[in-house]
Amino acid sequence: MKYEGMIFRPPSEAESLILQVTVGCSYNRCTFCGAYQGKAFRIKSFEEVKEDIDEVSSYKAIIPRVFLADGDALILPQEDMIRILSYLMARLKGLERVGIYANAKDILEKDVDALKELQKLRVGIIYLGLESGNRDVLKRIKKNATVEQLVSASRRVKEAGILLSVTVILGIGGVQYSQAHAEDTGKVLSEMDPDFVGALSLMVVPGTPIEKEIETGKIVLPTPFGMIEELERMIEHANFTRCFFASNHASNYLPLRVRMPEEREAALKRIREVLRRRDPALLRPEYYRAL
Ligand code: SF4
Repeated sequence: MKYEGMIFRPPSEAESLILQVTVGCSYNRCTFCGAYQGKAFRIKSFEEVKEDIDEVSSYKAIIPRVFLADGDALILPQEDMIRILSYLMARLKGLERVGIYANAKDILEKDVDALKELQKLRVGIIYLGLESGNRDVLKRIKKNATVEQLVSASRRVKEAGILLSVTVILGIGGVQYSQAHAEDTGKVLSEMDPDFVGALSLMVVPGTPIEKEIETGKIVLPTPFGMIEELERMIEHANFTRCFFASNHASNYLPLRVRMPEEREAALKRIREVLRRRDPALLRPEYYRAL
């Protein structure tokens, strides 16, 4: 497999074959994101992708899951997606699900029928970064999508019968927006009603614009307990039909895995107990945190 640069994938795709169909992120300007710094965006040619698929299929292994990298691989034109997915289905026996990162604009470029077409070709889950439901925070982090676009992109994914996994970031609004960020994110998550939510805690990546904003005091990060207060407030303001909410990413101080709505109250109880005791020993140590 010919990977270019560092490869990122969601934790839930740990067992998947990673197939790099694009390099970098077509946008690459979110202030907190250092994933594709210095990586010039390009779409790989079909011949390059085909070579990787041929190599993997020659091992004759059963590969049920594939994740298409990099950052916003759904930007691929529909005909390119169809060509790659059809080839994957033909060459990988036992292929059950293809996952992919997308941003709101990539999704909105495709209508429901186009997404349904991808779903028939095994695209089973789309990972979308919301980061915050607060409009000011979205502008400040240069998210390149409005709340309305993020919500309508989510609805389109769900209408196409594809699972939706949404990422939010605790602490991303700094102390200034902490409360509004948590409340608005909970509310917007309810509107998106995803199948999965992954809550991360902001980790400052060297060289990113947000690092400079923190250094100059423009943004002041919440304390670890401040981030857990955001988690509490977010869950208080969120209502899901059926969702698996996880804050067990390595960046978090308090790992949780919660089935919503059944375990919502139990999760809040646990969070409140941690906030009441304010004992740092209850939190994941700083040196264990990672992206
Ligand atoms: S967060 Fe996503 S959209 Fe923003 S720069 Fe990083 S990869 Fe690109």
